[in-house]
Amino acid sequence: MNSYSLPLFMQVKSDAVADLHKNLKMYLPKQSGQKALILTTEGLLQTLDSKVKIILEQLRTYEVVTVKRSSFDFAVEVAKKISMNNIGLVIGLGGGTALDTAKYAAFVANVAYIAIPTALSNDGVCSPVSVLFAQNEGKHSFTSKIPDGLLIDTDIILKTPRILLEAGVGDTVSNYTALYDWCLGCEENDDRPNDFAYLLSENAFNALLYSEAKSLDTVPGVKMLAESLVLSGLAMHVAGNSRPCSGSEHLFCHAMDELFDHNIPHGILVAIGSIAACALQQRDYKLLLGFLAAYGVSANPKKHGVTEEQFVKAWMFAPQVRKDRYTILNKITLSEDLFSSLYQQMCRECR
Ligand SMILES: [Zn+2]
Repeated sequence: MNSYSLPLFMQVKSDAVADLHKNLKMYLPKQSGQKALILTTEGLLQTLDSKVKIILEQLRTYEVVTVKRSSFDFAVEVAKKISMNNIGLVIGLGGGTALDTAKYAAFVANVAYIAIPTALSNDGVCSPVSVLFAQNEGKHSFTSKIPDGLLIDTDIILKTPRILLEAGVGDTVSNYTALYDWCLGCEENDDRPNDFAYLLSENAFNALLYSEAKSLDTVPGVKMLAESLVLSGLAMHVAGNSRPCSGSEHLFCHAMDELFDHNIPHGILVAIGSIAACALQQRDYKLLLGFLAAYGVSANPKKHGVTEEQFVKAWMFAPQVRKDRYTILNKITLSEDLFSSLYQQMCRECR
């Protein structure tokens, strides 16, 4: 039997940060009177000046720490600070750097954690994993905790660069190919299934696919995206691993990260990977292309600056990234020709 702790509250709306105190009092009354530690990144305190003021006004005692680099050592240092100073609540305000550090520090110190994301570019916002730099070895995923509460302020999210919201849609599309790969792993490789995690991941995908608010410029559209990404995070939490949301399309993305220096957001690479993975799974990717088009997201590798050589090399290397992850790549014969023609096909057919 597994035991889960799920978030107690989640607000997605305009000026959501103004409800911090109200939510703390209602859902976490004990922590609402305790000292809080706010983890954020340097520039945000200035750019989000008025929002930061609203957050701080609602806290009795607090300390603000800026995260320069989301390293494992720094997160552990913060955890120590939390334990030594009787801090009962950690609030992460920012993108991955601030949130992954806050999440891990709260997990180690065993205190409540509230996430106030400033971007919705991937499903890490509510996942039970922190991606942190571990010494010189690059980024690693560490088991962490999911937030006890989420405040997603659409005023902040709607001002982020559009490509980051598009990346968020891309990271949801991947559930479609990841679930297929997961089933394959369960049937052919003794991977553990989990029907409820499957349902959550599938619903995260369907919620965006069948949403009537298909827009990244409106509050209802952003709300739907936020809910999808949070459901994806919960699916991974329930499964106890990332299988419900991460299959061969993510192996392609991780291979790109390992092999090349690039600035393409995670979710965009995942969207490109999902179209390719869908083709490799011998399924029609028109459904996914229509989905992406409805949100104005391009999965054309060339348009995002992925060259044919990179595409081919990354796919050929993908099975090595996580050898224990059974996907469609374990079932088919991989060749440079196969991926070259897939690249050409995607450049023709993806807008
Ligand atoms: Zn992802």
